[in-house]
Amino acid sequence: MGDPDVNILSVTITNDGAALARRLPYPTQHGDLGDTMRAQWSHVDGFVLFASVGIAVRVAAPLLDNKHADPAIVCVDEPGRWVVPVTGGHGGGANALAQEVAGLLGATAVITTATDAVGVAALDTMPGFVASGDIAGVTRRLLDGENVSVRKDLDWPFAWKSNGSGSATATVVVTDRLYPLQDDAVVLSPPSLVAGIGSAAGVSAEEVNALLDAALASEGLDRRSVGCIATIDLKVNEAGILALGLPMVTFAAEQLGAVDVPNPSDVVFAEVGTPSVSEAAALLAAGPGATLVVAKIKSAMATVAVARRAQPQGHLSVIGLGPGLPLHRTPAASMAVRNAHVLIGFNLYVDQCEDLITAHHEVIRSPIGAEADRCRLALARAAAGDQVALVCSGDSGVFAMASLVLELAPEYGNPPIDVVPGVTAALAAAAVLGAPLGHDHAAISLSDLMTPWTAIEKRLQAVAEADLVVTLYNPRSLKRTWQLERAFEILRAHRPANTPVGLVTDVGRPTQRIVRTTLADADAQLVDMLTCVVIGASSTRDINGLMVTPRGYQP
Ligand code: SAH
Repeated sequence: MGDPDVNILSVTITNDGAALARRLPYPTQHGDLGDTMRAQWSHVDGFVLFASVGIAVRVAAPLLDNKHADPAIVCVDEPGRWVVPVTGGHGGGANALAQEVAGLLGATAVITTATDAVGVAALDTMPGFVASGDIAGVTRRLLDGENVSVRKDLDWPFAWKSNGSGSATATVVVTDRLYPLQDDAVVLSPPSLVAGIGSAAGVSAEEVNALLDAALASEGLDRRSVGCIATIDLKVNEAGILALGLPMVTFAAEQLGAVDVPNPSDVVFAEVGTPSVSEAAALLAAGPGATLVVAKIKSAMATVAVARRAQPQGHLSVIGLGPGLPLHRTPAASMAVRNAHVLIGFNLYVDQCEDLITAHHEVIRSPIGAEADRCRLALARAAAGDQVALVCSGDSGVFAMASLVLELAPEYGNPPIDVVPGVTAALAAAAVLGAPLGHDHAAISLSDLMTPWTAIEKRLQAVAEADLVVTLYNPRSLKRTWQLERAFEILRAHRPANTPVGLVTDVGRPTQRIVRTTLADADAQLVDMLTCVVIGASSTRDINGLMVTPRGYQP
């Protein structure tokens, strides 16, 4: 969920339902629920129905066809307390959609699919694998406590094992080869293969597609395991290759030319400046230790080769969870936490996304103060092939981990990293105070652990003179006792005594506290480690009890 390609529709019948639906980011239709569902059934990926489960079941029953194609259905009760996924729990994404809706409404998701409810990892949503085969049959055996064996066809990390006892009655097969479908077996296909593709300009999608199929068939490989395609950077816009719809990596001719390949070609070298495109790109994209499993094959206008990774490609998301409640967390942040299988963070931040943690996650709680260790651990795990989420409060790049992660990344071979933004403490604090950040502003951390106090004081002096609104982070702690008072002093020298000041503690959490005061009266004793201090500029005013910095429009 949270993906722009996923098409969700809210359907409301009552005014209360419509009011709740306005708090969600999906288009809404109000009125006849049956007509809407029938009309939209094959056009949406999911329905969020502000109606009873009974109505949903009656309308959906004649429409339900198969769990792989039917839309997800989620029901929200009239007061918005409960969010119930009705059909399409795992594969259809209804459980994830229900969690997302519950987060946004501050409601509770009522998950009834057995695997989530009893903490058994669901086979069809194992992060990093595509599942096929007898998913329902094997899941039932797992839930009944039977023993399910694991057969690994390739060296690929897969820590899962069944808790059941007795002799095995079913099998989970981890393979990138085609495996005959049979009862009591689930096939998990990892993204272990990379297809290298070269082509002449204007190659057709059909030709590329057929050649890829032929390459895979020659070694009995499963297309579900092709995690990405690789080519030369000249082909970055080649429609026939892009039409495969797979993630693509591209390399410069010099990079490809440096790879040792079995079938170099002078003709190719003369044309694009490297003796190999498909074999070299496949090997390079598949990373250290990769093997070429299908050597170059050719059609009239294309070449394809396939390499197998020695290990999964790891990934690190550095995620900003927002200031507190799930309501202020972006859908992209939630999705990034769900997609990871290793979750690393300071205790408070791990708690902040507890609603997203499933049996799939390995959770590593790291102590405060151990920031560099936390970043290094996250990078090391990503470099070793894990899908890692490093969670921060607020935004992940604002006085948080993202910059340190990016600084340290070269030491860990630069694994792929995503920085996922979040609502900062300053933005959330500003919103509850009114609109104090309506004009130019600055953020300053008073933490002198890593920045000398003289530098901090110089910056305070500069923003005071520049008449910027200031938000102060890390204003006070058990050991940091005098710095905030000194900051007030510096600002008082440049701004009127009645300049509005807001002290917002625990914003976005149930314990939120707001103190509205002035620069003359601001009391540092009311501030702690979890306070964001907002100090107005000379133009900031109190309007109806709210702190406002006019933008300068003529009202
Ligand atoms: N990355 C975070 C900042 C972390 S630094 C962000 O983008 O907001 C920690 C400081 O942030 C705290 O000392 C406090 O000043 C502020 N802070 C974090 N969470 C807060 C909250 N819920 N309410 C008020 N201030 C908060």
